[in-house]
This record gives sequence, structure tokens and C-alpha cells, in this order.
Amino acid sequence: MDDVVVVGAGPTGLWLAGELRLGGASVTVVETRPERDPHSKALTIHPRTIEIFDCRGVVEPFLAEGIRIPNGHFGGLPDRMDFSVLDTPYPFTLALLHARTEELLEDRARRMGATIRRGCRVVGLTRDGVELPDEEVIAARYVVGCDGTRSTVRAAAGIDFPGTEATTWGWLGDVVLDAPPERGSATIAGADGGLMIVPLPGGIHRLVGADPHTNRPDRPGELTLDELRTTVRRIAGSDFGMRDPVWLSRFGNATHQAATYRKDTVLLAGDAAHMHFPTGGVGMNVGIQDAHNLGWKLAAVATGRADETLLDTYHHERHPVGTNLLEHTRAQTALMTTYSPEGQALRAVLSGLIATAPDMSRRLAERLAGLDVTYATGRRVPNLLLPEGNTLFERLRSGRHVNTEVGLVRPDGYLA
Ligand SMILES: Cc1cc2nc3c(=O)[nH]c(=O)nc-3n(C[C@H](O)[C@H](O)[C@H](O)COP(=O)(O)OP(=O)(O)OC[C@H]3O[C@@H](n4cnc5c(N)ncnc54)[C@H](O)[C@@H]3O)c2cc1C
Repeated sequence: MDDVVVVGAGPTGLWLAGELRLGGASVTVVETRPERDPHSKALTIHPRTIEIFDCRGVVEPFLAEGIRIPNGHFGGLPDRMDFSVLDTPYPFTLALLHARTEELLEDRARRMGATIRRGCRVVGLTRDGVELPDEEVIAARYVVGCDGTRSTVRAAAGIDFPGTEATTWGWLGDVVLDAPPERGSATIAGADGGLMIVPLPGGIHRLVGADPHTNRPDRPGELTLDELRTTVRRIAGSDFGMRDPVWLSRFGNATHQAATYRKDTVLLAGDAAHMHFPTGGVGMNVGIQDAHNLGWKLAAVATGRADETLLDTYHHERHPVGTNLLEHTRAQTALMTTYSPEGQALRAVLSGLIATAPDMSRRLAERLAGLDVTYATGRRVPNLLLPEGNTLFERLRSGRHVNTEVGLVRPDGYLA
């Protein structure tokens, strides 16, 4: 019997598997897909996630391959938040294809000794593990549902997922552009809708946006290239020579959060615990951060080094972070999907404040970046320079408790 079975090999489940192994727990990850999804939902990796990778000594490939972007948007507003002022060694976001992020996380989990079973769909929970089709059981003392918004684990455990249903739909096209915008990327918004264009590796561009025609509760039909072309022309006056779509998709603003992140021996993390409109590029980041919070605790409990009650701190610490995520993505959705003159005026006022009120811009950036995270036990510690000459992030690489002396000096020379 394994200590833990993780359901879902998305970014959350894969980071969790590595963390559990680091803490000495045995783990099997079960994933429906025989192969990784080639389409890249998540592109943006935020500063706190990059710090977490550094705290485990695996940041290098992300830094080497990701495109560094020193600013970020809030709700598609044209004036962008300056990330370069943030108190972190990584004051930028990284743009990296979701599939590549998963590949790097899966490599780590396998290197650490996690078993990953692809092509296996979990259909339910048993008294001591999970059930696959044909009554096969994978036995484990703990089950973690990292199985996305439609989580089978959440449903089987009877954990409520209260929230609100979709009222509006965004769209996305990864396409070739023969006439891309001058600087490669662009943000365009008006009464006809809003659109962001970003270059992706492999000579394609992502066009992502929303428009008044899809402000409705029922899911519109499949997005076609012709519809995307017409919509983009209406918003931007050009279709940028789009052709050869790699991926066309829609996403709604249904917003839900699990009532509890722990029920006895079942836990939830990532999209299984929180669902929202994907604006600001944060969902995967919060999922990895959930996994980071849970991993060492569950490993310590499963290997008998800590009491079960430690697991309750996972819910107490991460549920409010999920609530905060739902709040700011809802706020961003409202800004992105407002097309009236009043809505446009609200966008202009807020965008102007981001450009001219550095403190407000910084606080919003810290919120998306995950750097403002605060628990009852304290708030995130920056990368302190330790008396022995190494940094805090380096000291955290073992995943075990670290005792530090007072008299720490920050990299900027101040005493902490
Ligand atoms: C268009 C779009 C753009 C986005 N952009 C960003 C971004 O830039 N940055 C960001 O941080 N987030 C972004 N997100 C959100 C991000 O994609 C998700 O938050 C993230 O993928 C969640 O990771 P996860 O591992 O929790 O869940 P998922 O990625 O959904 O992974 C769940 C896994 O579980 C598997 N699974 C499901 N059910 C079962 C079962 N019964 N048995 C076995 N396996 C199962 C699935 O096959 C899947 O592999 C975006 C989302 C969308 C839709």
C-alpha cells in the first residue's frame, strides 16, 4: 500500500508528487490521459512559483526556457503593473508552454521516485484508496484529488463545490499570424470587445479575449477560425493575417470553491479545489502553491513524523488563498467583459491609476504574483542571505525543517 495516491498528473499533482517523495512518502500518481495534452492552457508562471522552484533547486530550466516579462495585466487593462519593483529575485513572469512546464515537473517527480500511471481513470474512492475501471483498486492511506475542475475525487468524497455558474465566455486561438502587431504583442479593447495578442514559441500567436456576443449563460458552440477572424476584425480592425489554427477554445466564468480542502483521508488541491475565469494567468500557480503547502505536511504525517492535525492547517492556510483568487479573478472578469460606456470609463479610470499610482500597481502585482501570501503563522519570507553565506531558498532545498539564527541579513543589506 502506498502512503499517498495522487489523482491527476497536471501541474498540481506533479509538483505534489515530487514534494511527497522529498518528504519520504511513497506515492502513485494516476492520470487518465495516456499522453500529455499538447495544447497549452497555462502560459504564465508567477514570481512566487519561480521562488518555490528555486527553494527546491529546480528553477534553472524554467529560467533558461521561459520568456521573461517584466509586467503583467489586471483584467486586460492597457496600463500594465510593473513587476520589476517586486521584492523577489524573480521580478517578472515567465511565459512557458503548459506542456513543457508539466514535462519538467513530471521529470522531477519521476527522478524523485514517484510512480506515474498514465491511461488510468479513477472512477471512485474505496475505503482505503481509489477505484479504477474493472474494480481494480490502488490502495493508499491518503488520496489527493488534483483532478481538475470536474474532480471525481471531490464528488466521490461528497465535498460541496458551491459557487456561481457561467454568465460570460472568453475565447482563445493559437494561430499563425502573417501580419502580427508591430511589437509582437498587443492589448486592444473597446465597446466591441477586448483582445490580447502574445507570441508563443514555434512561430504562433495566442489571441485571447471576450466580446459582447458571448456575454450569455449558455455555452456557445465550438469556436471556428471564421468566427475568430470576424470577431478579431470587429475589435481590432484587422485579423492580422490569421491562419492555420493549432487550438481554438472557449472558457467560461463559472466560479466555485470546495467547501473544505480536507475530509478525513481525502484532500483536494489546484483546480479540483478552486475554479474561475482564467484571467491574470494565476490558476496553475495557485495550484502548485497549494501542492507546496500540502506536500511536506502530508509526507510528515504519512511517515509518522507529525500528528494528523497538521493536515488541518492545509485547509486553514490555503482555503483563504483560494477565496482571494476567486475574488480577484471575478474583479478582473468584470473589467474584461464590460462594454458599456460606463464600463469603458471604469476601465480607463483604473488603468490610469495603475499607470500613475505605483503603490496600487505594486499591491495588485504582489497579489497576482503570490508574494503577499499571509497565514496565521506569518507571511512569506523573502530570499534572505544567511550568516553562513548561502541564501534561505538554498537552505530550504532539503524540504526539511531549517533552524536559523537571528541576525539574518537581507540581500539588500538590511537586517531582517
Ligand atoms: C485558456 C486558459 C489559459 C490559462 N492560462 C493560465 C496561465 O497563464 N497561468 C496559470 O497559472 N493558469 C492558467 N490557466 C489555468 C490553469 O490551466 C489551471 O489552473 C491548471 O491547469 C490547474 O492545474 P491542475 O493540475 O490543478 O489541474 P489540471 O491541469 O486540470 O489537471 C488535472 C489532471 O487530472 C486528470 N484527471 C481528471 N480526472 C481524472 C480521473 N478521474 N482520473 C485520473 N486523472 C484525472 C486530467 O486528465 C488532468 O491531467 C489557464 C486556463 C485556461 C483554460
